[in-house]
Amino acid sequence: MALTLEPGARLVVATHNAGKARELAEILENRFQLVTAGELGLAEPEETESTFVGNALLKARAAAEASGLPALADDSGLSVAALDGAPGIYSARWAGPGRDFMAAMRKVEERLEESGSEDLSAWFSCALAIAWPDGPAVVVEGRIDGTLTFPPRGERGFGYDPIFTPEGGAQTFGEMDPAAKDAMSHRARAFAKLKAALW
Ligand code: IMP
Repeated sequence: MALTLEPGARLVVATHNAGKARELAEILENRFQLVTAGELGLAEPEETESTFVGNALLKARAAAEASGLPALADDSGLSVAALDGAPGIYSARWAGPGRDFMAAMRKVEERLEESGSEDLSAWFSCALAIAWPDGPAVVVEGRIDGTLTFPPRGERGFGYDPIFTPEGGAQTFGEMDPAAKDAMSHRARAFAKLKAALW
């Protein structure tokens, strides 16, 4: 079968977060009829893979198989060169069940101090996967490189935004105009690849 999705096709978004689904609908230019895994009552699989691509694929496949519809999933996070790529796929988990990203950012700084490294290079990655119920899948990854910045700066973003300054920039993602961040982000780069693959 062709790995394309007709405009208007039903697409499951493997998230239980309604806000994320709305954001995805906008990025996808409302081209598809989105329904969330939460709305369908699908269970959230455990993220057992060791890469962003692996986890995005695992989530997309689980939702496609459970729903019988094509499904889209993402996985993203911050990787620090001096920490061998940590927190990486554990980015959300470093913030704990209370989603305390101030604590997660402190942990990055502490681990960096412990490492003794002066290399502040880091990058955000976003993997996006679409899986069809009968097996095939498309998976892409977008990345943006930058430098860690301490102390954290800016109130505008989320997650690790206040400690990340993109290459060539002066402001952290937390300080930047959200539209400027959205135009260059790992997520935007991944979606550009997905669109190139799908339509
Ligand atoms: P996921 O929902 O399992 O993909 O977790 C991704 C985690 O990575 C989020 O909880 C954020 O902490 C972090 N993350 C991903 N993208 C960004 C970003 O653009 N800015 C800041 N943090 C991000």
